[in-house]
Amino acid sequence: MKKPQFPSHKIGILAIHGDVAEHAAVLAELNLEAVEVRAAKDFKNLDGLILPGGESTTIYDLAKTYGLISPLRKFIVTPRKNLPTTKYQLPTILATCAGLILLVKFGLLNVEVERNAYGRQLNSFEADLKIPILGSRKFPGIFIRAPKILRTGKGVEILAEFEGAPVFVRQRNIFAASFHPELTDDLRIHKFIFGLKFPQ
Ligand code: GLN
Repeated sequence: MKKPQFPSHKIGILAIHGDVAEHAAVLAELNLEAVEVRAAKDFKNLDGLILPGGESTTIYDLAKTYGLISPLRKFIVTPRKNLPTTKYQLPTILATCAGLILLVKFGLLNVEVERNAYGRQLNSFEADLKIPILGSRKFPGIFIRAPKILRTGKGVEILAEFEGAPVFVRQRNIFAASFHPELTDDLRIHKFIFGLKFPQ
C-alpha cells in the first residue's frame, strides 16, 4: 500500500521525557518526518508539535531546566508563513495526557483539569470512544493515570466524551486528549490532525 502524503510533514515531538518513541513510530507509519525537540533551536521549520504523555511535573521541570518553556509557548501561538492550513497559519499541536496538563499550565488550553482523577496506575483502563470527526468506527481510548477535564472554557470544542466528561478537545490549532492514541494501532487521530483533513 502506498503511504499517504501530507502537506504538513515535519512534526516535532517534545523529547525530554514520556512516550516519545511511540509517537515517532506512528508518524513514521504515516510517512511524516519526526523531529525530536530538546532545545530551542529544534523548533525551527516544524509544521506541528506533539506533547507526549508521561509525568507532567517531570516534563515541566526538565523543560524549565532546558530553557524550553518560552520557546515552546512562542512556537504554539505564533502564526507562520508557508503552513498548508488556512486562516490561522499556526502550527498544529497534539497534546496527550501529561501534554494536555502542560498546556493548561502554560495557559494555552482553556480547560480546567484534575490530574490522576481516573485513579492510579492500577486503575488504567481502555474504553471505546465515539469520535464523530473520525467517522462511525469507535476509537480505542487508553487511559493511564489520566487527567480529567472538569470544565471547558471559551473557544474549546469537545471532540469526544467519556462518562460525561470531555476526553478529547480542540482549541484553534491545539488538539488535546486525556488518553493515549499513540499506544494503539489505530492511527486515525494522528492522521486526522496532521493530515489533509485538518480544517484549521
Ligand atoms: N498522571 C500523569 C500526570 O499527572 C499523566 C499520565 C500520563 O501522561 N499518562 O502528569
